[in-house]
Amino acid sequence: QREHGFLAELWAVAGVGPEDRVACLDTDPVNLMVSIAKAFDLLGVAEAYCLSAGANFNRTVQTIENLAPTVLVSVPSIIERYMSKAPWTQSDDGRPPFSKVIYIGESMPSTTRRTLENAGVEVFGYYGASETSALGIECSAHEGIHVIQSRNIFELLPNRVDPTLREAVVTTLNQRAQPLLRYRLGDQVKLLPEPCPCGIPDPRLIVLGKPDEFISVLGSKIGYGSLKTSVYRNADEVGPLQVAISRTTIEVLDLILPDTIKRIEKEVLESVVSAEPDLAFLLDSGFLKLSVTFVNPGHFFSDRKFKPIIDHRG
Ligand SMILES: [Zn+2]
Repeated sequence: QREHGFLAELWAVAGVGPEDRVACLDTDPVNLMVSIAKAFDLLGVAEAYCLSAGANFNRTVQTIENLAPTVLVSVPSIIERYMSKAPWTQSDDGRPPFSKVIYIGESMPSTTRRTLENAGVEVFGYYGASETSALGIECSAHEGIHVIQSRNIFELLPNRVDPTLREAVVTTLNQRAQPLLRYRLGDQVKLLPEPCPCGIPDPRLIVLGKPDEFISVLGSKIGYGSLKTSVYRNADEVGPLQVAISRTTIEVLDLILPDTIKRIEKEVLESVVSAEPDLAFLLDSGFLKLSVTFVNPGHFFSDRKFKPIIDHRG
């Protein structure tokens, strides 16, 4: 109950109110999806319901059209899948039924976010961890996540390798069943020191994720998940990706991919460059080279512990 109350506070930060009809689409695990919907009820929205994407995704897309929610809550990969089939994405001036998207779990590729924003949708990132449940949410200023301190104490440990980063450590104040004391979430974050224009006093973090979830290159951070989404945008299904980064006279970012998608190499590179403005900038400036190495798909299963990112810069 207390957890639902806290979640309801977070939804209010995202500007969700009594007029809203909220659809929660396949947000794993199921108990999180149910908590999320209950918290919207507690907030007093007009309607909050859960949808399962299920086997027939076209039907799910149609259901969203019919129910016309004002807020869509889901994980980025499901949102992408929905967008690839939604009628409003098929025309330049198409508008979705909802005006807000709250995404949970993974980080959202910047192209997905831009497509939504260009269609008039306000996008909010939710921050939580399975060990701690809710931690914070993005506000209307859309720069970083407010981590709410009435609920948890946050400490930021220095990162020895990259001084611009910190590691988030959390102590729970309200979790009776499984309290955590200075628990290392493993998430690398950046602290935004300025007060937020929205007026919420809680500190703002840019959450980059676990060290194997982003590539740090020449001061830019490129999300592994977002890169993978871009790589496979024109493929039939999402496959494996390994990223190797090395330094010669310049830095070289090598995308290691199964040779089954060799025929779309050009599309892969175009998609990656258009999705990652930071990467495009570094390539243009000549400080970075992007390459693709195609390997036998067996490569991705040969190692007992697959490493998504290999850093040879040591
Ligand atoms: Zn704010």
